[in-house]
Amino acid sequence: MSVIYVDNAATTPVSGEVLAAMTPYFTEVYGNPSSIFYSVGEAAREALDAARERTAKALNAEPGEIFFTSCGTEADNWAVKGTARRMAARGKKHLITSAIEHHAILHAMEALEKEGFEVTYLPVDAEGFVNPADVEAAIRPDTALVSVMMANNEIGTIEPVAEIAEICRRKGVLCHTDAVQAVGAIPVDVKALGVDMLSLSAHKFNGPKGVGALYIRRGVNPVVFMDGGAQERGRRAGTENLAGIVGLSVALERAVNGLDEKAKKLAAMRDAVLDHIAAMPKVKINGPLDRAKRLPNNVNASFEAAEGESLLLMLDMKGICASSGSACASGSLDPSHVLLAIGLPHEIAHCSLRISFGVQNTMDDARGVHGAGRDRAESARAQPALE
Ligand SMILES: *Cc1c(COP(=O)(O)O)cnc(C)c1O
Repeated sequence: MSVIYVDNAATTPVSGEVLAAMTPYFTEVYGNPSSIFYSVGEAAREALDAARERTAKALNAEPGEIFFTSCGTEADNWAVKGTARRMAARGKKHLITSAIEHHAILHAMEALEKEGFEVTYLPVDAEGFVNPADVEAAIRPDTALVSVMMANNEIGTIEPVAEIAEICRRKGVLCHTDAVQAVGAIPVDVKALGVDMLSLSAHKFNGPKGVGALYIRRGVNPVVFMDGGAQERGRRAGTENLAGIVGLSVALERAVNGLDEKAKKLAAMRDAVLDHIAAMPKVKINGPLDRAKRLPNNVNASFEAAEGESLLLMLDMKGICASSGSACASGSLDPSHVLLAIGLPHEIAHCSLRISFGVQNTMDDARGVHGAGRDRAESARAQPALE
């Protein structure tokens, strides 16, 4: 039985082209980019500079505004904790975020609360949208930072980040966005968005795991998070993961260049499954009903008659790899904080499934997924709903 992998919000396979671009940096150009007094190091430095330029161009940033990190989680932690600690020195110890952020943001915020910071967790509506008016109302004279994600990893909601950033600018508050799910799926232009910081992660757009980046607008200066050498202009120490950084930059360039075409292909698969699910009994689709306002690859639904874990087992038996809620929440029995925040009761939140398509998927995969859904619906009709 072949496997249908439809959990691309958790991670994606590295494309052949990206792998080929990375390979020389393990074995041939293995120099340390900081050792520029001989050719092997110099070649590594040139590759690093080129990767930074490629990354900046794809985001409409300046190369000097791109800082490579070990993952999206590190970029999020740096933005949130680094800004909080910088602004605390000016008496600003209040932070604003949303209730549906990734744990990389939420747990960083909780750690700051233990250090004496105050955090406002904004609610979202039934489709997962943050209301920009709520952001404005929550800003106080001591607010240091607003961090609202660009697109939600579980239910695909695309947040009004440009509007939120505009409010922040007007109020003199720094603005960060976790764009880990957005980059490579929808257009991301840091200047058009007007944010001060933006996080991304290579493995969510067919790049390698273990490498991310934080865009930091010129003039913004979160406290250094990783102390050590002078890498990344003295702001993020540690010998650069050069192969990974090259992989990130090439994957990003490819994702951004082919974005329209890719998004159309993803949306066709998403819509085939959404249409199918919408016609099933006892099902609720989570996230925006207006499909233009959800990620092109995201399906999330609650099936009243089955538990998320048993749905996954059933799909797994058919060779389909999906997720109950979020890869990070599955494995625990706590229902997803995102599904609870959009108002689902615990028992419905437990019966939820996320399907996220990637460039390597085909319409046949989408048909395989909704074929399994039809079998599920038939067995659900044959059984009484679980309490
Ligand atoms: C995956 C993800 C992260 C974490 O990125 P890693 O590179 O896996 O650490 C952060 N935020 C969102 C929204 C994500 O989807």
